[in-house]
Amino acid sequence: QHNLVSNYTFSNFVEGKSNQLALAAANQVSENPGGAYNPLFLYGGVGLGKTHLMHAVGNALKINKPDARIVYLHSERFVADMVKALQLNAIADFKRYYRSVDALLIDDIQFFAKKDRSQEEFFHTFNALLEGGQQMILTCDRYPKEIDGLEERLKSRFGWGLTVAVEPPDLETRVAILMNKASQARLDLPPDAAFFIAQRIRSNVRELEGALKRVIASANFTRRPIDVDLVKESLKDLLALQDKQVSLDNIQRTVAEYYKIKVADLNSRRRNRSVARPRQVAMALAKELTNYSLPEIGDAFGGRDHTTVLHACRKIRELRETSSDIHEDYKNLLRLLTT
Ligand code: ADP
Ligand code: MG
Repeated sequence: QHNLVSNYTFSNFVEGKSNQLALAAANQVSENPGGAYNPLFLYGGVGLGKTHLMHAVGNALKINKPDARIVYLHSERFVADMVKALQLNAIADFKRYYRSVDALLIDDIQFFAKKDRSQEEFFHTFNALLEGGQQMILTCDRYPKEIDGLEERLKSRFGWGLTVAVEPPDLETRVAILMNKASQARLDLPPDAAFFIAQRIRSNVRELEGALKRVIASANFTRRPIDVDLVKESLKDLLALQDKQVSLDNIQRTVAEYYKIKVADLNSRRRNRSVARPRQVAMALAKELTNYSLPEIGDAFGGRDHTTVLHACRKIRELRETSSDIHEDYKNLLRLLTT
């Protein structure tokens, strides 16, 4: 029992700038498991294709070697199985099982945070697999060093292989993904309709898929062909909801792009000036341009306290008067975000 999702394959995965590195790495791993990149560590926000890519590797490994034991599981499942094994006095079996696999794919390892006993078990499993040359692929919603409540030795070990970010897709890739999903569903999606959806749904691929499903449902229901009007109608509620959400997301992306850093950096714990200043600018813009409260803004920036946001707003207000660089940056960003 391997739990691989059969249609999460490489051929169903649309390549774009945002996932190019992760895709290339995943491809390498599928060709040379246990070789160059062990573990392969993919990180990034929700709905960006991490799980898909990890299954794609698993599926490819299965094709090359049908009797390979590929085990995919969510980290919560690993924890639950371990707890059960402990209760049943079967921890030796648990260990043997995980150490006997050809490849172990563990999803969303942020759930290991603060689970000390599980981390301990996983640490030993990890070492055993690495030594045995068995491939591991791990995913996480953030950069490993930034998982609070994860042991240092695990964090450092995760970096022994290759760590790659999966970024949110750009507009072009979003359009390509929609066209790809439509053609898989044997559906006629006019490019202008795809473009409209891709322009409005910017957060992640899962949301894009959800939007497309709505459009398809209403096309079936009304027996109308898909065009921009139908798209607008069927996504009306979703977009109204989205508009409130997009703004913070939009601010983060625009600021990240402006300062040539990653959105993940804005939400990270990193404190060096090159990241901390843009983060403060983004928080100040969020306060100025949205109706979100300070705690909500803090949440959106990697779960920070509202006092941090307040401090950022004050700091930026002050800097806009004393530093012409910040003044200029802030003005430019306001313009980018409001026109
Ligand atoms: P994550 O694990 O990063 O949260 P998933 O792998 O679950 O994201 O992806 C969410 C959905 O989007 C899945 O249905 C997946 O197939 C799809 N998806 C993500 N990226 C792509 C891509 N580049 N091409 C095609 N489908 C994608
Ligand atoms: Mg996932």
